[in-house]
Amino acid sequence: MLVLGIETSCDDTSLALVRGGREIVVSRISSQVQTHAPFGGVVPELAARDHLTSLPALLDDLLDEAGLDLHSVDAVAGVYGPGLLGALLVGLATAKSLALGLGKPFIGVNHLQAHLFANFLQSPELDFPFLGLVVSGGHTLILDAPEPNVFRVLGKTVDDAAGEVLDKIARLAGLPFPGGKYVEEQARQGDPASVALPRPVSSSGPLDFSFSGLKTAAAMALRTDRHSLPDMMASLQQAVIDCITLRVDRALKETGRKTLVMAGGVTANRALLSQLQETCAARNVDVHCPPPWLCTDNAAMVASLAYFRLVQGVTSPQDLDAVAQLGPEVV
Ligand code: AMP
Ligand code: MG
Repeated sequence: MLVLGIETSCDDTSLALVRGGREIVVSRISSQVQTHAPFGGVVPELAARDHLTSLPALLDDLLDEAGLDLHSVDAVAGVYGPGLLGALLVGLATAKSLALGLGKPFIGVNHLQAHLFANFLQSPELDFPFLGLVVSGGHTLILDAPEPNVFRVLGKTVDDAAGEVLDKIARLAGLPFPGGKYVEEQARQGDPASVALPRPVSSSGPLDFSFSGLKTAAAMALRTDRHSLPDMMASLQQAVIDCITLRVDRALKETGRKTLVMAGGVTANRALLSQLQETCAARNVDVHCPPPWLCTDNAAMVASLAYFRLVQGVTSPQDLDAVAQLGPEVV
């Protein structure tokens, strides 16, 4: 079964053809980083317009490279939330129209859940149940996933997302946007124990995250100017990693799950991966993490999730609307 996936929830325009939920036939990602870089953040209106202008050519490219006709697609999947409303609407309307025109099923996908499915494209043996960790520019979530249609939130951030903290401090330090990967680059040369930064806890629950105190502490440390950039970034990265690892370890203990599935842009961070691998090894837990290009937003993960829905006989109605604040548990 060949699924065409479309992803336009934020600032990446992406299309992919995925066979059987696990094999990427062809994938295209067009980043809007250049468009938004001058503003130090994603400008929603510009994002929507960019998606609109790049999607048609991207679709032609995709089919050319695959050597396939649009009619060989068995279903079309698009993200309906969460994300920027205008940006979501472009991809969702495209997915629905293509499905309607082709007379093929349409599947509306939750972007957060889709991130986890990037792992099915890499690990042929991966199956449910698993514990999911989504760490991105907008979310920090621990999810229990007993089966393909059930996602239960065990922990979430009560303020900033982990990626937001990295991006904000990177920006204050004069690094390019989005700063996560530059933080990692700098951190490789720094001492993670050089700057004392907090590992805040949230009063809402032991598995919840709170990063705003860490963000403030890091911004203040940066202002005192006594530390080198690599030391500062290594200490910040380590604090974020410690916050995540502690909660994942606790969630694994509580649920007894034997598989951890990582997803979202921040999981491109190899220091985070290696610390989680250590933690999981001590609990005899398998860790799955996509390669960096599949950690960030992409349409292959959307098509993969849609496949698992399709084989269960689930499709979405044509009047499915975009939902900017779609919750992580909504399928
Ligand atoms: P997403 O929201 O899933 O598109 O992911 C974007 C977020 O991932 C941004 O906050 C980036 O700064 C962050 N990110 C990307 N690469 C890395 C990396 N190597 N280390 C840490 N964060 C990263
Ligand atoms: Mg994302």
